Amino acid sequence: MDAPTGPRLQRCCLAFLLADYRKVQIVSSVSEAGARSRERGECRVLVPTMGALHRGHLELIRIARAAARDKGEVAVSIFVNPLQFGPGGDYEKYPRPETDDDEFCRSAGVDLLFRPAPDEMYAAHFSVAIEETLLSTTLCGKSRPGHFRGVCTVVAKLFNILAPDAAVFGEKDFQQLAIIRRMVRDLNFPIEIIGAPTVREIDGLAFSSRNQYLNASERQQAPVLRAALVEGARLAAGGERSAVVVLAAARKVIDTAPLARIDYLELVNAATLQPIEHVQPNSLIALAVFFGQTRLIDNIRLP
Ligand code: AMP
Repeated sequence: MDAPTGPRLQRCCLAFLLADYRKVQIVSSVSEAGARSRERGECRVLVPTMGALHRGHLELIRIARAAARDKGEVAVSIFVNPLQFGPGGDYEKYPRPETDDDEFCRSAGVDLLFRPAPDEMYAAHFSVAIEETLLSTTLCGKSRPGHFRGVCTVVAKLFNILAPDAAVFGEKDFQQLAIIRRMVRDLNFPIEIIGAPTVREIDGLAFSSRNQYLNASERQQAPVLRAALVEGARLAAGGERSAVVVLAAARKVIDTAPLARIDYLELVNAATLQPIEHVQPNSLIALAVFFGQTRLIDNIRLP
């Protein structure tokens, strides 16, 4: 390509200066974030996270940037939400690499990083929560009672504080994405929810902040999750309709990993998230599997 000259050179220089100028603003107080939300002009797209940012989050930020366009703002929230962890969960030990996350947001071109402390988000005697009552009865909702109540409550609070026009959520947490869409519909949040495809390591393991808990042997065996989902999908694509047969094939793959312990492995309708006995259009295989104390989730859509 020819070197830029004239107006094109000027545009290139301007883009370079803007990229350099576009510094991430880090806000930790709810009132400051609220004030900034009222001041902002163009559209804002939010990526809610719990931090320990990785390539999956980066893809959400990229999608948020594309949705916000050049004049819009990309906001990332980092909040390890105590409300969505059960007793004995990994709330205390959940990774919180603040400096690395700041740098991650800076180099990803994030405009606003909102990182509130728990007592900023939850006042003493906090007593109001949001509960979705249909989609959250299965899968992770069944295994982790109260989890989606915590998720809905914190996401609603983030929506109120940051007032985004759109928000991006990953399909890796398929049930969470479905429940947030339902909450936005049922409670009339004027916010577009954008789903983002799952980003994976080369061996198929979905990126997750929890992967860093895995020891070397667990990490080596963890790709069976994706392999199991692909095997189930392969059978379904070949015409197999029986949930029992499809899930047995997936289970057999997981059983090749001696360190894997299945929490759930289910075939569900992707719209209702209720278990189904036969593969139908819009089905999903979803799983949660423990390696030691580490619980990993993944899913695959069936054709
Ligand atoms: P977390 O920080 O784990 O709460 O995740 C924040 C957001 O990133 C959620 O919407 C997740 O679904 C999404 N996410 C996490 N891992 C991935 C991944 N590997 N690919 C795509 N999105 C992801």
